[in-house]
Amino acid sequence: MAMSAKTMVCGIVLHPAGHTRSPAMHNAAFEACGIDAAYLAFDVPPQRLGDAIQGMRGLGLRQLAVSIPHKRAVMEHLDRVDPTAQAIGAVNTVTLAEDGGLEGANTDWIGALRALEQKIEPGGKRAVVLGAGGAARGVVYGLMRAGADVSVLNRTESRAEELANSLGASRFGGLGELAALSPEIIINTTSVGLRSDSSPVAAEAIPADAVVMDAVYEPEQTRLLRDAAERRAQPLEGKWMLVHQAAEQFRLWTGSQPPIAIMAEAFDRADQS
Ligand code: NAP
Repeated sequence: MAMSAKTMVCGIVLHPAGHTRSPAMHNAAFEACGIDAAYLAFDVPPQRLGDAIQGMRGLGLRQLAVSIPHKRAVMEHLDRVDPTAQAIGAVNTVTLAEDGGLEGANTDWIGALRALEQKIEPGGKRAVVLGAGGAARGVVYGLMRAGADVSVLNRTESRAEELANSLGASRFGGLGELAALSPEIIINTTSVGLRSDSSPVAAEAIPADAVVMDAVYEPEQTRLLRDAAERRAQPLEGKWMLVHQAAEQFRLWTGSQPPIAIMAEAFDRADQS
């Protein structure tokens, strides 16, 4: 699509910017929906984050996505942060409002929930979240909001305890406690399996029929997901979390229905080298 002075410029602020498939997903969605917009990736180191966000106001950029390592730090540069992003403690979406105020929101939790809903309705189900870092907070929030019974297991138990207490999850513990919980849903939010053939839990701890989602999406078929398939559980790739959180940003910014299948295809095609 040809750009002009009317083209809506938006993008993602992250560091380093080398590995992001967000521009591919969003630009494919804009094109499919005939929206005159361009989505760029901005490599912004932490010391320039404040300037970058204030630059939105100066340039009149209406929307920016925020990724690692800025999701928490960006909050101090905004005029308003919605209650959901406050509860999660992270912002991944900034919008320049009509009154000139910079507003922070979070679509990560919706992405996790929509991805999961492809396989299971989480309300009332026993769910275990592996990990207690940044990704875990959005996932636990989403599961709690959907009415799941949530346990948080982490290598460092004190972090699991802190997360479970702050968001009201039922239980916390170490990664070895998975089998005893007989979960219907397992979501890995640890970085174990990222570009390595390892899993945070023993294959035998995965119950048959459980839906097992991995936030790790590189490789797409992680060891945990392969173990889940062998155990006759239901594996769900981490790419769906990313696609659905991007889709929610698209909905927020354009008011249009996101073309999910087109965004997923663009994700697959995006060059990661
Ligand atoms: P983070 O805040 O650094 O948290 C890392 C988590 O991994 C912690 O719970 C940590 O446990 C655990 N961990 C690290 N090494 C471990 C090991 N050797 N054994 C057991 N546990 C270990 O990172 P994050 O931002 O939450 O991201 C975590 C992963 O999720 C990354 O792979 C990221 O790419 C992925 N992610 C995916 C999406 C998506 O949409 N698909 C979105 C966000 C993140 P301790 O507390 O014990 O250190």
